[in-house]
Amino acid sequence: MSTVGFIGLGNMGRPMAINLSRKGFHVAAFDVVRSQVDALAKAGARAAVSVADAAMSSDVVITMLPNSAVVEEVIAGPNGVLGHLQPGGIVVDMSTVDPLVTDRLAVLAKARGCGFVDAPVGRLASHAERGESLFMVGAEDEVFVRVKPLLEAMGTTIHHCGGVGAGMRTKLVNNYLAIISCQLNAEAIALSQRFGLTLEKTLDVLYGTTATNGQLKIAWPAKVLKGDIEPGFTIDLAHKDLTLIVDAANAAKVPMPIGAAAREAFSTARGRGYGAKDFSAMVDVLCDLADIPKPRLVS
Ligand code: NAD
Repeated sequence: MSTVGFIGLGNMGRPMAINLSRKGFHVAAFDVVRSQVDALAKAGARAAVSVADAAMSSDVVITMLPNSAVVEEVIAGPNGVLGHLQPGGIVVDMSTVDPLVTDRLAVLAKARGCGFVDAPVGRLASHAERGESLFMVGAEDEVFVRVKPLLEAMGTTIHHCGGVGAGMRTKLVNNYLAIISCQLNAEAIALSQRFGLTLEKTLDVLYGTTATNGQLKIAWPAKVLKGDIEPGFTIDLAHKDLTLIVDAANAAKVPMPIGAAAREAFSTARGRGYGAKDFSAMVDVLCDLADIPKPRLVS
């Protein structure tokens, strides 16, 4: 069993560190808030007195901290993890941070003979409590193999997304959709209420169509992502519907910032000659504009 330094014992870190401890790992726990450390000591961990203390006795150090600046300071700062972890040790950052910080820290870790893993977390604190987290992991293969048992002690779903930084970049893509959909849902539900529709019936309808992001999960793999952009439902028709929706919302004084921006994106697609193509081809239009190869599933 590895000895694990665990730094950052907040809403996510505390239950994860407790799960490691319960499952037999020797955990040296540290947080700047003393009561958080005490809670871990009660669960069987050793109460570390500093970042250095948590790092020097450990094979692996996990950080679960609020933001990029704190992660950089704790890992690479003057009294940070990398100054105290033995060569051959591994740093696993599970926080959500700027991927360029991840890249920088990985280079610094390598220079000290240590491995680096980014393993940001999907799902919520309640999943972390139950040991049911999802991890998006960026790591070299041999380092991934070494940290996998730790991740399995804290979660049920572990995706090895690629080399260092791939986990953090996957997390940003995931959170983009998760967070934007809150605003998108807000616009749709507000419009339904302004139209005087019944919430329960509206949800019944939405849950039974591709409206609830069935586009990405169901429609796209069968269309654009396998190279088929023949309609289906054309970009011209989608543009017409979005115009109806945004105009109706405007008339009813319901602001629709995402809807308005999306309508203009569909206008761009029409301007580039995609009007008669399937509306899933919006991703091809954007990739054209940004000079990115069109995304296609390989299997
Ligand atoms: P939190 O604020 O509850 O916990 C952060 C902990 O870090 C606190 O206990 C704080 O005292 C400690 N800390 C701050 N500076 C420190 C330092 N210099 N040294 C040691 N400890 C320090 O935050 P959280 O909700 O646990 O989130 C942690 C990370 O996980 C964030 O990057 C967040 O974006 C990400 N995340 C959160 C959730 C969620 O549902 N809460 C889900 C997925 C990912």
